[in-house]
Amino acid sequence: MIEVNALKPFQRAVFLDRDGVINVEKCYLHRIEDFEFLPGAPEALRLLKEAGFLLVVVTNQSGVARGYYTLEAVHELHRHLQNELKPYAAAIDGFYICPHHPEHGSGKFAADCSCRKPLPGMLEQAVADFRIDPAQSYLVGDKLSDIEAGHAVGCRCLLVKTGYGDISAEAAPKDVTIVDDLLAAARSIIGEETPGI
Ligand SMILES: [Mg+2]
Ligand SMILES: [Zn+2]
Repeated sequence: MIEVNALKPFQRAVFLDRDGVINVEKCYLHRIEDFEFLPGAPEALRLLKEAGFLLVVVTNQSGVARGYYTLEAVHELHRHLQNELKPYAAAIDGFYICPHHPEHGSGKFAADCSCRKPLPGMLEQAVADFRIDPAQSYLVGDKLSDIEAGHAVGCRCLLVKTGYGDISAEAAPKDVTIVDDLLAAARSIIGEETPGI
């Protein structure tokens, strides 16, 4: 008996950190009225989608463990994000959230976990869920902890200068592409796929 999954071809994905990459970093963002796209971000997502990439958000949300907001508030914000992306036909294919923190807060989310970046748990889960080939996939983040998670699963990584991404080219690991923002990241990724564009 052949497993159905085995017949499905591998998919390519772009793993996306959320805060500081897609939307303006606002330090524990959780209220919908505070949500604000970074310039060009929806267009970037559309370009990637059109190029055949799955869009997978991987976001550390330790604000949940710290008791600043609930996991339901995170889901609510993501529903809002999807709505805002509708005019761009650039729906996010999967949201992976780490609500944990190893030291801060209390309750069930104040725990060590394998999903908090720089650990690659969220990416590994997405790889399994969507049958993603990491070698044909990318990660875009604004922190070195994002990049570390991307490298751990073997995808190519881009660091944006928006959000916390104020790292100098000299300080970045050699195998990281530094770009201004998500739109530049999308163009770089697509340009690599189809030289000449
Ligand atoms: Mg970020
Ligand atoms: Zn976690």
